[in-house]
Amino acid sequence: MKLILLGAPGAGKGTVAKLLTALDGSVQISTGDILRGAVQAGTELGKEAEGYMKRGDLVPDSLIMGIMEKRLQEPDCAKGFLLDGFPRTIPQAEALKELLAKLGISLDLVVNIAVPREVILDRLTTRRTCENPKCQAIYNVKSSPPKKEGICDKCGAKVVQREDETEEAISHRLATYNEKTAPLIGFYEKEGLLYTVEAVDSDTVVNGIKGKLGL
Ligand code: ADP
Ligand code: ZN
Repeated sequence: MKLILLGAPGAGKGTVAKLLTALDGSVQISTGDILRGAVQAGTELGKEAEGYMKRGDLVPDSLIMGIMEKRLQEPDCAKGFLLDGFPRTIPQAEALKELLAKLGISLDLVVNIAVPREVILDRLTTRRTCENPKCQAIYNVKSSPPKKEGICDKCGAKVVQREDETEEAISHRLATYNEKTAPLIGFYEKEGLLYTVEAVDSDTVVNGIKGKLGL
């Protein structure tokens, strides 16, 4: 399947993407994970992106498009992909449309995961992330803590609160979402690709998508 997952930070895009990869071997492509990996590794890309990310601002469109143009041409994308956190602005959506046309790829669906703001805020402040850039497993201090406090179940690295998950950075990220990313809902509605699911629980979202795709 070839999908875009839209939704505010904390809507569960990453969780839904992981569940979907298990269905047909499509790959999850998270621009946030790619960028955090680059920051940790100290690459040129990471150095350019770091300041924006810490403040909860978007990284410039040109940087993101450079990453995605390469990523979508890697062989593992042939089976399908789930775009998680991209596109995030109208210019990115327009550039993606052109890129996909050039590569001869067509999207199956754009899923808009709609979750109430109170749920989002609660999730983001209690979210914790494995600091190992190759793992980046996600935990929640209330609903799914690691077995041993502060230690990742999967890789043994430290589980920490992301720098952009302080209350101030979170409200800034949500404002940025409303201003820059929410307009994509209308963009993809016009393209005839939009499917909105209102659900707090990721399994319900996945079942809705399966139904829509006839899986
Ligand atoms: P979220 O939980 O906000 O969905 P992500 O992991 O997707 O977080 O992204 C973390 C940060 O990485 C964003 O706040 C932004 O700075 C940067 N980022 C990720 N994807 C994009 C994108 N498509 N365009 C611009 N910046 C991005
Ligand atoms: Zn880990």
